Amino acid sequence: MRNRRKRKNFTLEQKGYIYFKYNGICQFCKRDKRIKWNKDSLQFHHVKFCNDGGTASINNGIPIHKECHVKLHQEKGKDQAEKSGL
Ligand SMILES: [Zn+2]
Ligand SMILES: [Zn+2]
Repeated sequence: MRNRRKRKNFTLEQKGYIYFKYNGICQFCKRDKRIKWNKDSLQFHHVKFCNDGGTASINNGIPIHKECHVKLHQEKGKDQAEKSGL
């Protein structure tokens, strides 16, 4: 399998910035409660998909529940394995 190495995962610093920028609110369901900061709950979604030229920048990331992230990708019909978890 070919592996094009291009940085697409957010660094911890970027994740922190994105998380606080959105006040820890999931941008998919927008439930009025902060997502818990742990890898079972919180993930980061690339607004612009990596294969569309999106990069790991803080303007391209939103905090999202793990389960909402799955739904979002199913709805978009892009169930690519995007690993933006913590
Ligand atoms: Zn959610
Ligand atoms: Zn995603």
